[in-house]
Amino acid sequence: MGIKVGIDLGTTFSAVARISPTTGRAEIIKNQYGDATTPSVVYIGEDDSILYGKDAKQMQECGSENAVAFFKRNMGNKNFSFSINGKTYNSTDFSAILLRNLKEDAEKQTGEKIDGAVITVPAYFTNVERAATMEAGKRAGINVIAIINEPTAAAFAYGLNETKSDQTILIYDLGGGTFDVTIAKITPDTINVIGSDGDHQLGGKDWDDCIAQYISEEFEKRTGISFADDAEMINSILVKSETLKKQLSNISKVKFPVNYGGNKEVIELDEETYEQISSYLMGTTTSVIDRLFESVHLSWNDIDGVILVGGSTRMKMVQNYVKKMCGKEPLHGVNVDEAVALGAAIKANLPERPIAFLNGAKSQEPLLTIAGAKKVIDVTAHSMGMISQNKEGNKYINSIIIPKNHTIPASENKTYKLSTRQKSNEMEIYIVQGEYPRPLDNTISGLYVVKNIEKMGSSSEIEVTYTYTSNGIIEVTAKQKENQKILKIEKHDVPDDISWTDLDPKDYMKSKVTTSEVEVILCIDLSGSMYFDNRQPIIKATQAMLDFVSQMDSSQVKIGLLAFADKHKMISVPTANYKALKEAISNVQSICVGGCNEDQPFTEGYNYFRNSDADIKYLIVLTDGIWDNQNQAINEAHKCHKNGIDVIALGFGTADEAFLKEIASSDDFASLTNLNELSTSFTKIAQEIGGDKLQTWN
Ligand code: AMP
Repeated sequence: MGIKVGIDLGTTFSAVARISPTTGRAEIIKNQYGDATTPSVVYIGEDDSILYGKDAKQMQECGSENAVAFFKRNMGNKNFSFSINGKTYNSTDFSAILLRNLKEDAEKQTGEKIDGAVITVPAYFTNVERAATMEAGKRAGINVIAIINEPTAAAFAYGLNETKSDQTILIYDLGGGTFDVTIAKITPDTINVIGSDGDHQLGGKDWDDCIAQYISEEFEKRTGISFADDAEMINSILVKSETLKKQLSNISKVKFPVNYGGNKEVIELDEETYEQISSYLMGTTTSVIDRLFESVHLSWNDIDGVILVGGSTRMKMVQNYVKKMCGKEPLHGVNVDEAVALGAAIKANLPERPIAFLNGAKSQEPLLTIAGAKKVIDVTAHSMGMISQNKEGNKYINSIIIPKNHTIPASENKTYKLSTRQKSNEMEIYIVQGEYPRPLDNTISGLYVVKNIEKMGSSSEIEVTYTYTSNGIIEVTAKQKENQKILKIEKHDVPDDISWTDLDPKDYMKSKVTTSEVEVILCIDLSGSMYFDNRQPIIKATQAMLDFVSQMDSSQVKIGLLAFADKHKMISVPTANYKALKEAISNVQSICVGGCNEDQPFTEGYNYFRNSDADIKYLIVLTDGIWDNQNQAINEAHKCHKNGIDVIALGFGTADEAFLKEIASSDDFASLTNLNELSTSFTKIAQEIGGDKLQTWN
């Protein structure tokens, strides 16, 4: 049997750790050069030979274009690719190459086979980035036991110090390319993560860039010469800047000779100037920390200690900031470069069953005693939602299903109302990671298409469940509430252009519905009461119907006219010839179908639609009173509903609201109004028919 390791797949450096078979403590597996960390750099030679780590970094320092670093910053980014020798690589490919070599080297150094690994990711990594990391591990031939958050891993490593009492700890993780901050309560046997936040476009590299920028500006100021267009020079200055930055962690002033274009200059950088030119970067870390405090309702006063993780926390400005804010020195005993890998190794070796905790907790069944082993309660770094319309139906929003800082694993659901007046029986679930109401202000990290929704009326209730696994991967399921059917779900690529989320849903849906054929029959009650009050009811009803037709689009919707009272008469079957239809509506008063309400429009409507190929079928019934055979009408209306014909019922005068609700396909489709509001009610119907809706159900 082989061993299980922890791998810190860092932006700039990576490290591998195991549990020592003799001490039970996590320890770093040094690489072939005897180093605890390996640069996260990959080089692919012209003959496709591969170098990694220190050797690849040397190629990078020589300015080789085939050496790639910082690929972790683009993990899962489908727009990032790098072409070498005519082959295209993405971040997952480079990570897989690095991981395979780290694994093989660790196997050589230990003489053991690696059976599985826990790989760490920044807490702020999204679903997509986590999935890409797992994929890289798999492609490297590694059995990925789990993905864990770097700060959580660091807290595990801190457990090596054997906490005696509960402490609230802030984990400040500033690496080469990412910044994460996490607050956790550490008890003798648990690590309870309270919240985390971060910026994964911020790291030590930004401080390097800042120094490089300073050097090039100073050089240009003194000599008038710019090397901004000289890629090789910039690369070499960047590499040197990192060295200067590290020196500034120990000494207060550094000097850097620049020899370019026949000019020699020695540029000095002291601690104070360094802090000044990079103060905006420290400012960003401060904002992230303040944002986290605000979201978990804590402040610096609640913090018992700070764990520093990541090479960049060696910078004096970081240590001074932490001391100033916390009022204490950062906690010691954890090597900032090694903490994450050590913690991951502990996690990798935790048995699935309850373990014997070294730090106080007792177990009846001691399996393996691992120093630092604690139960972890972790939280989501982002809110997880989906795109839906707001209640008013005038905006697309991020409808949050699992809120940020929810303990994981988590499973939450929300019910959405889907109008099924569309041709397809599908629903799109765009996964949104983030808290902002506007979908595009967040990461859209996945698209799932729910299939085979059964049309059971004008709208369906779809219960969407998000399950956030302990690896931070999202799983999506959907159920149709009417029939409790679990729906089939397909994963799709998120399209490049989702700018439609900024449009008014009505406009957008109108453009989408073009492929569906919609037919509407306006059914008007022509009983005697419509002619009371100087014919006001029939005059206003005629006008409202004419207004309705004017708002529709004849290329999408065919409209017909049916009159009913004691008998019924189909005056016009659904037609795209709105001119003729309007004429028929204007002359509706001349139609004679009797004076009472013995008949109903549903049987005729059903008979017509039974032979129609339209995808979407509506009967809009306009009535002003009580019908003679309401029960029969209800039965006939229900037959329509069952056969995919939606009934919209609009009543005024003495019409009965309970009856309207019975004949309508849903309560939303029944309304009792008055003569003066008829046109407005028809406008609302026109909007309903004009587009589909996916709305949060309240
Ligand atoms: P990590 O991603 O945790 O390996 O951190 C790597 C980053 O830490 C790189 O940007 C390094 O330049 C930076 N770093 C390493 N040592 C020091 C140091 N002594 N002072 C400042 N930054 C450092």
